[in-house]
Amino acid sequence: MAIRNIVKEGDEILTKVCRPVTVFDARLQTLIEDMKQTLAKSNGVGLAAPQVGVLKRLVLVLDDDDETVLVLINPEIVAAEGTQTPTEGCLSVPGIWGKTVRPAKVTVRALNEKGEEVTYTRTGITAVCFCHELDHLDGHLFRERVTEYVHYDD
Ligand code: ZN
Repeated sequence: MAIRNIVKEGDEILTKVCRPVTVFDARLQTLIEDMKQTLAKSNGVGLAAPQVGVLKRLVLVLDDDDETVLVLINPEIVAAEGTQTPTEGCLSVPGIWGKTVRPAKVTVRALNEKGEEVTYTRTGITAVCFCHELDHLDGHLFRERVTEYVHYDD
């Protein structure tokens, strides 16, 4: 297992559309473990495979309890309702924060690391994170959705 480098804004990798995961092999499990370590080390709430330079449809999202990491492979948003206006940041865009408009409640369907179908419905920051991380899989950064940048005093 290893901490992987996080790709930063400006790298072309972050603009690419990722490919679905089709093989659930040891290599994928290593990638997932490495991403878990990388997420924990960076104190983030979510991480998408392209952020570690891998163009696969795989994201991790820290669940509401702040301890469980949801592994979402080939994820799709199957329901969304309401709106919220969170302040978002991104491990690939360090030091930048901005307000966006996201659904208040999001249901995502995906495969877990064993290839089993899972469905999660979440609100709050976890719902935001589902949207943010899935955007990465299609080459989009949260900046494209920012309505207003937020500046924090150092
Ligand atoms: Zn991000």
